[in-house]
Amino acid sequence: MNHDEFRDWSRQAADWGARYREEIRQHPVRPKAGPGEIASQIPTSPPETPERMEEIFADFEAKILPGMTHWQHPRFFAYFPANAAPVSVIAEYLVSAMAAQCMLWQTSPAATELETRMVDWMRQALGLPQRFAGVIQDSASSATLAAILTMRERALSWEGNKSGLSGNRRLRVYCSDQVHTSIDRAIWIAGIGEENLVKLPGSGPLRGMEADALEAAIEADKRAGYLPCGIVASVGGTSVGGTDDVGALSDVARRHDLYLHVDAAWAGSAMICPEFRHFWAGVENADSIVFNPHKWLGAQFDCSIQFVAEPDDLVRTLAIRPEYLKTHGRDGIINYSEWSIPLGRRFRALKLWFLLRAHGLSGLRQMIRNHVAWSENLADRLRGAQGFQIVTEPMLSLFTFRHGAPSGVDEDAHNLALLEAINADGRIYLTQTRVDGKVAIRFQVGQFETAAGDIDVAYDAITGCAQALGGYGSGR
Ligand SMILES: *Cc1c(COP(=O)(O)O)cnc(C)c1O
Repeated sequence: MNHDEFRDWSRQAADWGARYREEIRQHPVRPKAGPGEIASQIPTSPPETPERMEEIFADFEAKILPGMTHWQHPRFFAYFPANAAPVSVIAEYLVSAMAAQCMLWQTSPAATELETRMVDWMRQALGLPQRFAGVIQDSASSATLAAILTMRERALSWEGNKSGLSGNRRLRVYCSDQVHTSIDRAIWIAGIGEENLVKLPGSGPLRGMEADALEAAIEADKRAGYLPCGIVASVGGTSVGGTDDVGALSDVARRHDLYLHVDAAWAGSAMICPEFRHFWAGVENADSIVFNPHKWLGAQFDCSIQFVAEPDDLVRTLAIRPEYLKTHGRDGIINYSEWSIPLGRRFRALKLWFLLRAHGLSGLRQMIRNHVAWSENLADRLRGAQGFQIVTEPMLSLFTFRHGAPSGVDEDAHNLALLEAINADGRIYLTQTRVDGKVAIRFQVGQFETAAGDIDVAYDAITGCAQALGGYGSGR
């Protein structure tokens, strides 16, 4: 591709992107394609000769687009959002044009220095104390793995990387039963083993673990000869928003000299609004905090910030300096690859810079406040609709509900059928979870361009599908 063609096709891609966003409401949120339908249209072997760009682009529209789930659709109410504000897409375009590797300061000085500044902008935006430094990781899963490795090394006096875990006392990590699966996987990968991840039941309206039960578990483990190394607190768990009392857990962590990592991957974005910070009160005592600007805030995936109170602990755990990576005579500079697991790193700070400048914190706060208010409003309307029950109350903008089944029909089966009907309808997209063993339908408002009218559409789609399916109050 020559420079003129590159310019021309880049323009076409930009036009396509703008049109896509403009017309996105016309697509069903989830594609109608069945398994294998897309693959069957793609040749099974690579082309030997070059193909024309016109054909490649046309195939993208004809074969790929019909198989996409539209995560930027304003009526995507499933999972958690993966917002890409248009301005962050533009920043990503520039990043992809430069395609720099940002592993060391000297491989991209601007990327490193902007990253330091953006992490500190976000620290201030979230109301965290000045002593927190941080790094942009690719995902919360990576950040949590980095935190688990750090708590492991700290407990093993920095010997685990060298001598391995065999021959050591069994390490123990504590969390509630509401944590994200990335915690389990970090425990596997860190060699700690799932049997040593102690999951305490979440209880109360926020489904947090009890600090007393946590302390009892730690003391029992110590008596049994285990080596407790850390606690993972959840703020806004993925299932129903399960949230621990971070302050109470940090007291336990301090008493037992344990490393405290806070997973606020989704809910962290809401902490730009001071009125929501009570959900993580005590967070200033954490050792590590992860939150994903790539979820609710609007920074295109991937962009996950890990704040750490002691960056030296993280670097001591992850830094490796072969000769070819040494940056001689440059003391005091940051090489962010020493703060993360992969060596190569993308320039992720640019989209955050563009996003924060184009919207301002006040614009982003307004979006989050709207989402929380709309979610509460929809929960109230469903509570009043016949046959519906709110299973978990809104935690920020996430709640779950259930619909009563017709007599003789299993309630879980009925709610799964309702979910399938709602998603097949295409106007909105929802996902399910289990609460106390029973199926519940999740609803979260978080899309960057959702408007109040989209919530009305959601109400109509949910109640309409329930009516069509029959069930409680249908007279059947
Ligand atoms: C989404 C999510 C994660 C995982 O985030 P990735 O960036 O996809 O790894 C972890 N924890 C919570 C609470 C989440 O919501």
